[in-house]
Amino acid sequence: MKIAFFDTKAYDKPSFEKYASACGVDIKFYETKLTEDTASLAAGFDGVCVFVNDTVSAPVIDALIEGGCKFIALRCAGFNNVDFKHLAGRIPVFNVPAYSPHSVAEHAMAMLLTSIRRIHKAYIRTRDFNFSLNGMTGFDLHGKTVGVVGTGKIGRCFIDICRGFGMKILAYDKYPADIPDVTYTDTDTLFRESDIISLHCPLTDETYHMIDGDVIEKMKKRAIIINTSRGALIDAQALLAAIKERRLGGACLDVYEDENDLFFEDYSNHIVSDDVLARLISMPNVIVTSHQAFLTEDALDNIAETTIDNIVGYVNEGTESNRVTA
Ligand code: NAD
Repeated sequence: MKIAFFDTKAYDKPSFEKYASACGVDIKFYETKLTEDTASLAAGFDGVCVFVNDTVSAPVIDALIEGGCKFIALRCAGFNNVDFKHLAGRIPVFNVPAYSPHSVAEHAMAMLLTSIRRIHKAYIRTRDFNFSLNGMTGFDLHGKTVGVVGTGKIGRCFIDICRGFGMKILAYDKYPADIPDVTYTDTDTLFRESDIISLHCPLTDETYHMIDGDVIEKMKKRAIIINTSRGALIDAQALLAAIKERRLGGACLDVYEDENDLFFEDYSNHIVSDDVLARLISMPNVIVTSHQAFLTEDALDNIAETTIDNIVGYVNEGTESNRVTA
């Protein structure tokens, strides 16, 4: 069995090579993204393996099917890049619904601790033999209130971590679950009473810009916002305005609403034209990582294993576990 693997990064290969060779799957790794221009590269393969920024639009789907592709295997949970209407069930799409909620929750806490204990500043200072502590005062997490929006797999892991720090938990979810010792509340109360707010809900029409200027106005003046979910949950312009007005304590962003053309790539020798992102990155109390919260060896291993299982199960036995029915 042969699959064409698009948007390959160096970190994808070890885990996929391990599971593919064990299952007799031959992978051709392409660094290019899947687009209308590159879809012909998949001709003659049994299927394709794609990631979040690959394009699976109508023309791409037609080209893939014409070239003999029998499935589309997403190596991620989200599938907003697939035109399911046009696909109309002609070939199946598989995804990896969960690979390591711990990876994302731990990254959220890593960003929070970095921010409030000024680790990012200390790292740079001591490398320059500047051992001054001026401007490095942080605060304890113990006893502070964290508001968690979305108490699914990642939100729950994050709550467990926060409990270990002795924090008080407030939670909001559209579909509250029965989680011991978690107090659900409305968003208004959560935004007003939390010292730290961490977003773990999906991006939908309803949650688009759930944090905007009006919501930020309700927050505590020194509140810190963490977003490891999807960029467009936050109105980035409103966030920047609030940071500039010193309305917020800080922001920890692993995702950004206009990240698609930037994140995962090296633009260190380019002039980046996104002024909002550039200004956010320049702030001492904003930490930006490049959608890397998922990136642990454990998560990569789970992603590769599930993706290859999805493919092999379908081709060899006709099973359809993790088929996306959108
Ligand atoms: P999940 O489906 O287990 O949990 C999502 C939770 O959000 C559910 O409890 C759901 O009821 C709740 N929810 C749905 N609509 C809501 C709304 N309008 N308001 C409040 N809550 C709502 O998902 P998960 O695995 O915990 O992932 C959470 C998010 O993390 C994903 O949507 C994804 O965007 C993001 N994610 C980011 C990375 C990364 O690397 N940064 C990796 C994986 C996932």
